[in-house]
Order: sequence, then structure tokens, then C-alpha cells
Amino acid sequence: MQKYCVTNTMTLRKALEVIDQHGKGIAILVDDDGRVERTVTDGDLRRLILSGVSLEDEMSMLPQQNSTIGDQTTTRKDALALMDAKGLDHLPIVDANGHLVDLYDRRTLSKRIFLSAPHMGELERTYIDDAFKTNWIAPLGPNVNGFEQEICDYLGCKAAAATSSGTAALHLALVVLGVERGDVVFCSSLTFVASANPILYQGAEPVFIDSELESWNMCPRALERALLAAKSEDRLPKAIIVVNLYGQSANIDALLDVANQFGVPIIEDAAESLGAKYKGQQSGTFGKLGVYSFNGNKIITTSGGGMLVSDDEDLISRARFLSTQAREPEVHYEHRVVGYNYRMSNILAGVGRGQLRVLDERVAKRRELFDLYVSELSDRSEISWMPEPNWSFSNRWLSVCTIDASKSGVALRELLACLDGELIEARPVWKPLHLQPLFEKSKMYSAGNKNVSEELYNTGICLPSGTSMKEEDIARVCLNLRRCLDA
Ligand SMILES: *Cc1c(COP(=O)(O)O)cnc(C)c1O
Repeated sequence: MQKYCVTNTMTLRKALEVIDQHGKGIAILVDDDGRVERTVTDGDLRRLILSGVSLEDEMSMLPQQNSTIGDQTTTRKDALALMDAKGLDHLPIVDANGHLVDLYDRRTLSKRIFLSAPHMGELERTYIDDAFKTNWIAPLGPNVNGFEQEICDYLGCKAAAATSSGTAALHLALVVLGVERGDVVFCSSLTFVASANPILYQGAEPVFIDSELESWNMCPRALERALLAAKSEDRLPKAIIVVNLYGQSANIDALLDVANQFGVPIIEDAAESLGAKYKGQQSGTFGKLGVYSFNGNKIITTSGGGMLVSDDEDLISRARFLSTQAREPEVHYEHRVVGYNYRMSNILAGVGRGQLRVLDERVAKRRELFDLYVSELSDRSEISWMPEPNWSFSNRWLSVCTIDASKSGVALRELLACLDGELIEARPVWKPLHLQPLFEKSKMYSAGNKNVSEELYNTGICLPSGTSMKEEDIARVCLNLRRCLDA
């Protein structure tokens, strides 16, 4: 910090040299004991010279001024608010002795670390340009067909339909499986609300299934109990929506085993797990149907979009038909069933094609970020990381851990607020759907005496995991996480 400091006995010339050397356009005037007195800009010195003071005069000629100064309790957010209020671009930070420990500047300070920011590759623009050049500005076209084919090639599945969102793809999955008003559909409880909203669109009744600790995904034992109970009431579900949470496949063989015994099809909600694997096979390709999302925060994105996949080509062509207003193949507009406007646009499919080319890189990078967190924080006994069973290859969409508050003494909400003060976006684990007011009347089957999804919600946090993050960003997250845990 010495390089920013000037003293009262320095000449103006020397002070100007100091400002010139570090290029921040500002110096910090300190007294004989090194305590910060005020900030000095080159403008301050220019005005002094214009008033007749010479370059060889001492800095003591500078009039006194109360400068805005922060201390070590000043968060980034506080500092930015102070700088906004006072119209400043710099803020000196002092320790308990009044000595300079940091000099914040607005540009570096205001850099927010997002949970999962979009990260474009190099080819997206080319595909979009093609769409413009050929005037395929429609929810149809070569990029849509290309994207579907390339997804099939990547996943090793037979058919795919690109949709306007992952939610739309899930909705179509329910429709093509014949889910109707009054039907029951099972769904993982620990997930984003979009997994279950389409059940309500169909007027069907959701029943929620708890997670297992091994994978954080649907517990096969809880599923079995729920199916037995449903069978005894003669109300077996029409479908089971199995979510692959935070980029990790559910325990598919065990779940399929149970579901097959009762003859109920599984829909994999793989919105978060594109590029992940279960026993070496692509996540999302095990169920009767699989659903992916290309929303802005997902591992690859089209800004908004989704994909429905299956090895059953009839189901996919039915979904494609329904996604374009269910128009019968007649010259006039003939309609027999209700349809939807759920098709992906040809422009966004172009973004998707470019993104798909970098998917493997993105998976590798997310896994690397996760490993970095684990090693940087390995000494913190209150932190446990989301497990990866030996059959799983997670894409580590988000780096997620649980924190034992009885060890840290810091409540989860306080921890999140503390990180937010440093402009670090961390989030709690999804609030289980059976706890949502929207689903308060729905049934829920726990994994055991304790409800695992509630436990994970109460202790889990998602750390920033965007693939454009640098090592220094991870270091900033870790540093502040430690600080917030020790506060
Ligand atoms: C993002 C997400 C969805 C919904 O996808 P959209 O493309 O945003 O509609 C569904 N399920 C899960 C688990 C998700 O994370």
C-alpha cells in the first residue's frame, strides 16, 4: 500500500510522481504515524498549483479535507454505495490503527461473481449469421434440424425435438404419455418448480418423492413405497419425473427397476445434467423420454430453449406435431386436438449448435472448478461436498456443498447475505416442492425417518460455478466464504 502514500513533507512534484507511477489518479496522504488523513487527486494538486503554490512546495500547503474512508467491516456493497453517494471512484480502506490496507477502485470492486453466467463459444455467431443470410428467421429451419440431429449424435439417442424451453419439453412429454386431468404424476421433490409445473398444466396431481443421500436424487426405496401405496389405491401414476439434480444423474438402474415392476414410464428431467453420465451412458437417455434445458444459467444455453429426446421416434414426432399448434397435414388449417406454440426458433438453434461444440469443454471446466473449491477449502470441517457415486459422472453444473452450522455457528441465510455483501452470488439448494405453498396439498414420500430433501435444503448452498470464472474468482469466493464462516 506504500506506493499509494504521500506525506505532508513531500514536494508537490514528488506527490505528482507518486500518482503518475501507479496510474490510479489518486494518492493517499498519511501523517507521521502513517495514519490516513485524506485522498489527493491530481485535480487537487492542479488547483493548488493554479492558486500559486509551486511544484517544489510541500504537501502541507494542501487544505484539510474530510475524505470518505472505509474500514475492514466495509463490504463491497457498502463501499459501492458510499462511492455512489459521494461521487467517488476510489475508497481507501484503513485498519484499526488508521493505516491504509486497501485502495478500492470502482471498476474492480463492482465485479459481481454470478452463480452461472452464460459463456459463449466462437461458432454461435456463424450459425446465427447463416440464419440471417438465408432469411430463416422462423421457429423452423436448418439450424433447428441441425441442432436436433447433433444432439442425437452427441447423446446416442434416436430422436429429438427442439422446444422453446425445458418446461415446454416437459409439458409435451406428459401430453404424449397421455397424462390428463385427474391423473397422478410422481416427481422428485428436491428440484426447481419447472419440473412439476407441467403436471399442473395438465390438471394432474403431483406426488413428491424424497431424495437419497448418496446422489441427492430420487430415492428408489421411497419411490417403491409410493408405488405400492398408489397400487393399493388403484391410482398408479401415469409417469414418474426423475430429476438429475445439479448435473448429477439419479440412481437410474434402481429407479427403472422399481418403475418397470409397476409398468410406469420414467421421464428424465435432465435440464441440469446435459453432458453428465450414468455408468458411461449420457444422462437423460434412460427414461422413456428425456428433457434438457438451454436456459441462460444452464451448462450450455440458447438464452432460452429446451429439447425433448427419446428412442421412440413416434413419441417425438407426436411432440413435434403438438409443438406447432397440432396442425393436421391439410392445405387448409385443420385441427383435431389442442396444440402449443413450443417450437425453438431457428436463430436460437444456431446458438445451440455453437454451444454444443463446446459442451465437453464446459463439463471439464465445471468439474475443474468443483475440484478447486474442494481442495481450497479442504481444511474446513464444516463443509461437505455433494457426493458423486461411483456410477456417476457429474457435469458439476453447480458446485454444491452443505454446511454444518453447529460447527460454523453461522446460519445459512447469514452466510448467503455475507457473500452477497461481497457481490458473490450464492444460493440455497432448491426448496423442496412439497414445502412450497403451491403444492401444500400434495403428498410426499420421505426416504426414511428424516426427510433428506429438507435436510439438504436446510444446509446446502450452491457456489458460483460459471465456466468463465477465473482462478482469482474462485480464490475470492473461498476467501470470503472463510471470512463469512468465521464472522
Ligand atoms: C431449468 C430447469 C427446468 C426448466 O427449464 P427451462 O428451459 O427454464 O424451462 C426444468 N427442470 C429443472 C431441474 C431445471 O433446472
